[in-house]
Amino acid sequence: MLHGMNAREFTKGVPAATGARMLPPFTEEHEELRQTVRRFVATELRPHSMQWEDEEWFPNEVFTKMAAVGLLGLKYPEEYGGQGGDHLHDAVLTEELARCGSGGLAAGIGAHIGIATPPVFKFGTEDQKRRYLVPAIRGEKIAALGITEPGAGSDVAGIRTFAKKVDGGYVVNGSKTFITNGVRADFVVTAVKTTQEGGHHGLSFLILESSMEGYSVSKKLEKMGWRASDTAELAFQDVFVPEENLLGEENKGFYLIMANFQWERLLMALGSASAMQVMLERTIQYALEREAFGRPIARHQAIRHKIAEMAVKAETGRAVTHNALRLFHEGQDALKEVTIAKLKTQRDAFDVADDALQVFGGAGYMKEYEIERAARDARLGPIGGGTDEIMKEILSKQLGL
Ligand SMILES: Cc1cc2nc3c(=O)[nH]c(=O)nc-3n(C[C@H](O)[C@H](O)[C@H](O)COP(=O)(O)OP(=O)(O)OC[C@H]3O[C@@H](n4cnc5c(N)ncnc54)[C@H](O)[C@@H]3O)c2cc1C
Repeated sequence: MLHGMNAREFTKGVPAATGARMLPPFTEEHEELRQTVRRFVATELRPHSMQWEDEEWFPNEVFTKMAAVGLLGLKYPEEYGGQGGDHLHDAVLTEELARCGSGGLAAGIGAHIGIATPPVFKFGTEDQKRRYLVPAIRGEKIAALGITEPGAGSDVAGIRTFAKKVDGGYVVNGSKTFITNGVRADFVVTAVKTTQEGGHHGLSFLILESSMEGYSVSKKLEKMGWRASDTAELAFQDVFVPEENLLGEENKGFYLIMANFQWERLLMALGSASAMQVMLERTIQYALEREAFGRPIARHQAIRHKIAEMAVKAETGRAVTHNALRLFHEGQDALKEVTIAKLKTQRDAFDVADDALQVFGGAGYMKEYEIERAARDARLGPIGGGTDEIMKEILSKQLGL
């Protein structure tokens, strides 16, 4: 396990891994990995994150550096260059990435590891795994997932990008938008219509390469938060995609989308629960140090009550998320629990960031303290990966409504 890593090298001088006791489903082994990842984040990512936020871009080297210590393939089998772990290892990585100081950086890494490569592993042919998964685990090819379009976001069945069947493959016309890693991606796992009607029974997935003729990045989008990540609009004009790039079965793409969403939403919940913990720790520290009216602001009841409420959100977010993770890891139906975890943590993470901002006062509004950045980043949570309204719709169905 975890061949490329030298845990001792990466754990020197790193603060204790968790703010709370280790809870199931995590074991000692996961806590060791946590220390390793924490060290990597503290030394390789955290020192650069503000610069990358300003530049609205992080270097591709991040992927190769992570690959060198095995972090891009934690949950993939060794035969593909992975570490032979499972989703729990990626969960640890996701929690620790929340400490990197940039939601965009975590999102760019997460799009590659958490949402774009899993369908290649789960639904791909051996040839596709060799051509896309293996170089992605090595950090040599960067991946993106392309579902959203200018005319279809929440209503994924409404996508219009059309793949016309031709001799030897498909000709694709259409566009995608809001695609994380879209500017830098070497390949995009792309949802297309393969029947005129499209919809639940007419969607498929094709792997498009950015080098294919007719593929272009039409725009790098400017955002409120997640600034270090690149988010793109993509255009496809008569892009010929060979039939060996069909991912999974033709017209069964909706199933792939749904299967992928569970893990994406769980990752978002893990990231946000961890972000709340980080925010809480920083706020407690600040409130104990900052003085007003002759005492630390933590000694004013209004402030410590606010912090107590932040702690409740962080703790309950972690509890519902780990519960969903445990069920997901055991292979049980976790749709309801994952939906609750996503719903519970995303708005709360924004509220916790906003509370932190209030406790920090004017300093919270200043860039230097990174609280305003955290609040901007957290605002994406109730929108991305399925909005809060869509989560409530899914949950309502689970409740028999
Ligand atoms: C920074 C960023 C990165 C992203 N990365 C990716 C990516 O890598 N790949 C990708 O494919 N997509 C990506 N997305 C897209 C994201 O998944 C969508 O933005 C999201 O699913 C919502 O779709 P929409 O923006 O089209 O909103 P819409 O679907 O237009 O919704 C607008 C509003 O209407 C509400 N609404 C819609 N339907 C209903 C309903 N039935 N009942 C009640 N309310 C409803 C929504 O909740 C929302 O409040 C990204 C988005 C952002 C902002």
